[in-house]
Amino acid sequence: MEMRRWKADTLELTRDYIRQTAWDIKFILHVRRCYWCRMEVQLSVERYLGRGLPWFFDIMNEIAYDDEEEYILERYKDMPRVRDYHITSYWEEVKNYRCGIKTSHKGTEDFIKARLDWAEKVSRADIMLATSYYRQLNSWDLNSDPPMNSDLPFL
Ligand SMILES: [Zn+2]
Repeated sequence: MEMRRWKADTLELTRDYIRQTAWDIKFILHVRRCYWCRMEVQLSVERYLGRGLPWFFDIMNEIAYDDEEEYILERYKDMPRVRDYHITSYWEEVKNYRCGIKTSHKGTEDFIKARLDWAEKVSRADIMLATSYYRQLNSWDLNSDPPMNSDLPFL
């Protein structure tokens, strides 16, 4: 691809990534203080493995594929792991209900809190990284090798 075109496309990708990550941080700050959204996240994690939620709550791949888990581990070494929390399932709740037992959601709540804290830290670091990459790429004169950064997921 022509370099000028590549530069323009990559600048746009970087801008989109910064915008998306800023939205993730807004979401994190909101969910932390909004009871109703926390309930929605909890239900979604317990019943639909977080599908439809931001990436740090989408636990489908972590549960289904070991490869994906390895990839995630490498990029995000201190991510709170699904297997370290007791995440209540819908069926567990149904079973408990039939036996007249009230289901505790503490494991899910702890998991959500840990992921929110961790994702905020990672997202803030990613925004700094992407912003600095954007500046670097923007001032690139097209004559030397293009600036790269393998820590950014879209590059
Ligand atoms: Zn809310």
